[in-house]
Amino acid sequence: MTVGIPKEIKNNESRVGMTPAGVFELVKNNHTVYVQSGAGEGSGFFNQDYQQAGATILDTIGQVYAMSDMIVKVKEPIAEEYNLIQDGQIVFTYFHFASSEALTKAMIRSKAICIAYETVEDEDGSLPLLTPMSEVAGRMAIQQGAKYLEKPVRGKGVLLGGVPGVSPGRVLVLGAGTVGIQAAKMAAGLGAQVTILDVNMKRLRYVNDIMPSHVVTGFSNEFNIRKHIKTNDLIIGGVLLKGAKAPNLITRDMLKDMHPGTVIVDVAVDQGGCVETTKPTTHEDPIYIIDDVVHYCVANMPGAVPYTSTVALTNVTLPYVLKLANLGWRSACKLDRSLEKGLNVVEGEIVYKEIAETFHLEP
Ligand code: NAD
Repeated sequence: MTVGIPKEIKNNESRVGMTPAGVFELVKNNHTVYVQSGAGEGSGFFNQDYQQAGATILDTIGQVYAMSDMIVKVKEPIAEEYNLIQDGQIVFTYFHFASSEALTKAMIRSKAICIAYETVEDEDGSLPLLTPMSEVAGRMAIQQGAKYLEKPVRGKGVLLGGVPGVSPGRVLVLGAGTVGIQAAKMAAGLGAQVTILDVNMKRLRYVNDIMPSHVVTGFSNEFNIRKHIKTNDLIIGGVLLKGAKAPNLITRDMLKDMHPGTVIVDVAVDQGGCVETTKPTTHEDPIYIIDDVVHYCVANMPGAVPYTSTVALTNVTLPYVLKLANLGWRSACKLDRSLEKGLNVVEGEIVYKEIAETFHLEP
């Protein structure tokens, strides 16, 4: 099979759909890989790295789409790419169809095989191609939170790890899922006092088993949240209600109970956020302040660390890419039920129920 890796052209996207290591594996399996010149530069991978791994470098995005049976990328195709996608071509990437009718209609018209990373689903309901980005965002949340706790950026002026003779900072983590656990782990590693709240006792038991003793668990309810926000320096929002808007666990009136300079990193901003005053921000302008509380609400946190994010993403996508290339999409999806769940739009038809329902179209 011929596999194409175009350069991402969506604004501010520096990740790339495949690393040289992925190219190496595909070439070893007798596939041909075309990489657009400069596609990996934003993530620290250069043309010669791809060539050494066995790829052929093509000059234009048009050539990559025209010469490939399968396109592997990161973000959903944007309008300039719609007409490059061909009848019967496999496109394996994040699509998030439900949020764009224009994209959905364009992919129906293209008659391509659109397999969405975000709906590949394991038997236990977990989403293996979303997990690495939550891991990146969870860890990054502490790094960002620690930075914005500094006084020059209007934080409280607290060093999370403290120093001998001075207590460490306090971190409250809402949600003990992927984001929450990674955030708690990073905060604990810095020496902060961490409290993690969830409504799922299984998750809390797990956290209690694996974390050091300066990470304590608690049940998430309004009473406990009101109590903890008064004393914590950094608050991480990492809750998720699958397929729904995040619940507003911190309401506007609660901000006045926090110390001035408290920092909220609401990672759940992409689902509306778990703080009433959350609104999406960008890496260029990541924070705003309401009632002296610093809000960091960047909706694509992993975009700031493209090397780590690209490698983390391609670690999990590559086994599926290999299956698709080796077996073709029909056999690969028949054999692998997780991958089959990724089929969203196939040869002009929406095959994913929720997407069809979103646009009142028949699946
Ligand atoms: P997850 O499903 O692994 O974890 C969510 C947790 O929230 C679960 O443990 C669940 O029990 C808990 N929860 C639900 N209701 C709660 C409540 N009322 N109080 C406390 N906990 C509650 O999800 P995840 O992968 O950790 O993702 C969390 C959020 O982060 C999602 O909205 C995801 O889209 C988002 N995210 C954002 C970025 C970004 O760049 N901003 C990147 C990755 C993920």
